[in-house]
Amino acid sequence: MKITILGSGTSTGVPMVGCGCPVCSSSDPKDKRTRASIVIETGEKYILVDTSPDLRRQALRQRIPHIDAVLLTHPHADHVNGIDDLRGYHFIHRRVIPCHGSRSTMEAMLRSFSYIFRGLEVAGYAPLMEAHIVNEPFSLFGQTIVPIHLYHGSMPATGYRIDGAAYLTDCSRIPESSLALLAGLDLLIIDALRYTPHENHFNIEGALKVVEQLKPKRAVFTHLTHEVAHGDEARLPEGVEFAYDGMELAL
Ligand SMILES: [Zn+2]
Ligand SMILES: [Zn+2]
Ligand SMILES: [Zn+2]
Repeated sequence: MKITILGSGTSTGVPMVGCGCPVCSSSDPKDKRTRASIVIETGEKYILVDTSPDLRRQALRQRIPHIDAVLLTHPHADHVNGIDDLRGYHFIHRRVIPCHGSRSTMEAMLRSFSYIFRGLEVAGYAPLMEAHIVNEPFSLFGQTIVPIHLYHGSMPATGYRIDGAAYLTDCSRIPESSLALLAGLDLLIIDALRYTPHENHFNIEGALKVVEQLKPKRAVFTHLTHEVAHGDEARLPEGVEFAYDGMELAL
């Protein structure tokens, strides 16, 4: 199994429009962050987590040949607004892509992107995806996917564990019942946003506390803002790294 960080950035991406701060003007390619997403390769299958507004660019950059399933974390624009970019794959493969998420996420998706799931006959759009509501562990291409209930401020969000890896983006609190599902991780990819505290996201200090608690073998901080320069990584404790676009994590 291999996980690739497609996007390591917060909702605005980095650089942020209109900003001339040192990180937004940095020449380090690792400071260029598209919106948060990962792809998991297992066997010949590609499982995409979230459909960011940068999906097209991410899929071209990583040369993703097909997407076999999508997992959604929550319906915020920076995680779902690129969903239509999956249409190119549909033109080639003619497959309806299964899309998994919590009830509240899938209900929001059906409201906002009805044509993706139901098609639109007048426009000649066939359904592109099939909605699946998931709360409990389920099987996908021989792997068990464990949805992890999280809080993103007061809103629910879903993380996913697959084998020894967990992807927990957009969260500010992990309930007790979810902590039990995150024991013995080889890899934890977690929202760490920035240094300054934020109501709806763990900041770096908060994410470090989660790392101390869960003790994964390796931790990768993602969904980063322009407050964070990749070059600051040396300040992080051993075993903790900043994500960057295109980062490959083998398991
Ligand atoms: Zn986000
Ligand atoms: Zn900036
Ligand atoms: Zn969010």
